[in-house]
Amino acid sequence: MSEISVTLPDGSVRQVPAGSTPADVAAAISPRLAKAAIAALVDGQLTDLTRPLTKDASVALVTDKGREALHVYRHSTAHLLAAAVTHLFPGAQCGIGPATEDGFFYDFVVERPFVPEDLEAIERKMKELAAADLVYERQIWPREEALRFFKERGEPLKVQLIEEKTAGQSEVSCYTIKDRDLFVDFCVGPHVPSSGRLKAFKLLNTSNAYWKGDAKNQPMQRIYGTAFFTDKELQAYLQRIEEAKKRDHRKLGRDLGLFMFHPWAPGATFWFGKGTTLYNTLANYMRGVLFPAGYQEVKAPIIFNKALWETSGHWEHYRDNMFLVQSSDDEEMGLKAMNCPGHFLMFASEVRSYKDLPIRFHEQTPLHRNEASGVLSGLTRVRQFSQDDAHCFVTQDQIGQEVERLLRLVQRVYGDFGLQYEAKLGTRPASYLGRLETWNHAEAQLRDALERAGMAYVLNEGDGAFYGPKIDFDITDAIGRKWQCATIQLDYQMPERFDLKYIGADNAEHRPVVIHRAIFGSFERFIAILIEHYAGAFPLWLAPVQAIVLPIADRHAAYARDVRDRLAAAGLRVDIDERQEKVNYKIREAQLQKVPYMLVIGDREAAECTVAVRSRSGGDQGGRAVDAFISAARTEIAAKREPENGLAAAS
Ligand SMILES: [Zn+2]
Ligand SMILES: [Zn+2]
Repeated sequence: MSEISVTLPDGSVRQVPAGSTPADVAAAISPRLAKAAIAALVDGQLTDLTRPLTKDASVALVTDKGREALHVYRHSTAHLLAAAVTHLFPGAQCGIGPATEDGFFYDFVVERPFVPEDLEAIERKMKELAAADLVYERQIWPREEALRFFKERGEPLKVQLIEEKTAGQSEVSCYTIKDRDLFVDFCVGPHVPSSGRLKAFKLLNTSNAYWKGDAKNQPMQRIYGTAFFTDKELQAYLQRIEEAKKRDHRKLGRDLGLFMFHPWAPGATFWFGKGTTLYNTLANYMRGVLFPAGYQEVKAPIIFNKALWETSGHWEHYRDNMFLVQSSDDEEMGLKAMNCPGHFLMFASEVRSYKDLPIRFHEQTPLHRNEASGVLSGLTRVRQFSQDDAHCFVTQDQIGQEVERLLRLVQRVYGDFGLQYEAKLGTRPASYLGRLETWNHAEAQLRDALERAGMAYVLNEGDGAFYGPKIDFDITDAIGRKWQCATIQLDYQMPERFDLKYIGADNAEHRPVVIHRAIFGSFERFIAILIEHYAGAFPLWLAPVQAIVLPIADRHAAYARDVRDRLAAAGLRVDIDERQEKVNYKIREAQLQKVPYMLVIGDREAAECTVAVRSRSGGDQGGRAVDAFISAARTEIAAKREPENGLAAAS
């Protein structure tokens, strides 16, 4: 029998008989590896462990360590789900069942929607099929036979998929679990070798779906599930989604009286008093960070003639995402979806010298994007929003220094919110505009800036925009979810389109480079992240109501109002609860509203001119003079975090 050479990831080469499988290769290396492997990368292509090797190839075994592995594992679990549904609901038609970022789903055509008891029964069946350790077998069928098979089985959707995806092929790849009587799916794979490998999975919920996601097509029922290599990981994930539900900003936003939505303004937030306070606190915080850093806050128009959008290129590429309006004299206008073009007009409004650069415009006015109403969700997918957006106009030589300053701003801001983050450098993509040297220069400056700022980063090669490299930031919230927020984006293209220039030291005209940057991203989305990160219990400096005065009885009202007034005059956001309720009831309510400090006023406090302090997190803190409370609160606000032993010791 002829032999072939197999090159392993460490560079070593093994001779094996032609027709050996990656599973054989794994077994020859070590039984442990054979047991851990679930798929293989053959010449970089993800394949089954059982696919015979016919020629010399590089082979890497995929174990539960690799990212691809979880994808294969979850896709295989989706097949197990479809097999279980096929068993329990004869006549159910299978659609598609991919792995997703968090698990998997499978779409079915069934006579009635699934109910929770169905999910339990299906999951039980899946466990049974997993315990039986049934083989996942790849079978190559003549295309005509596959079409006939699925047609006779009453699966027109699979017939359609085969027709669309394998036009011109004579054979198609199918997978069975055990054999074709039980379950067979048209699928390119790869899959785990057998169902016994699937150890930890859970069905989560169902939803309505449509064939190919189009509401004009066949309605379907989607079952969502998730799967992990170990039960420990699965349980941790389930706990996290439970926790995420409790923290859902849409629920907390309502409970805490921050904001609302109305069907007559889809995707646009109505901010109540407390929400507006939170919003303004963040807006002013950002102003306070940016002004000393050399930014000018500007306000450009919201509606522009289409000529602006034609110049920027948005008319051609982005018009569908914009709200278009007509002026009374029939001008075609568009609501701005981003601030950049307005800032370019402002930059170009006068002759700029190299001595003026960097020029930094910061703007918080509202932006509009015409998102489909179906994708709108809470504060995270909206039509109207504002950004902590700015554009820095710099010379080529200033890029590195400006980016370093930006990185330090990002470090400071996320530090103030106690958010962990990671930086990702996106470099030149395959198709790009501009000269190669310009790109190399820019990328080198970004890398140097990251190093000078002492910031670790992930290199995402080819992930830059076609007009310039960028640095994106993912923040991790208190329950471990990642959100992309800040971005620093170099742009060589817009200065060309808007013919931006400055006079250099050589008295000649030069093009500036534009850096688009945002740290929060959109205020709306950042507030959603903060609500969920803090679970609504904002630190004192952000809390819409920082303290609430709770008189025990009517006779304490006058002194309570006096305390309230003194706190308000000291700049604290203070409320008072004068209702005819028991003080314990008032405390419970303030606690539910997550007010950081409750100041209880009874006979003793009124006589001694003190307040009895309760903190949201630490309970009873004892009596304090009013001024002592004010000064401790100010210290905590300035520190932006809670003191470790409750309210700071007052002077
Ligand atoms: Zn599949
Ligand atoms: Zn921009």
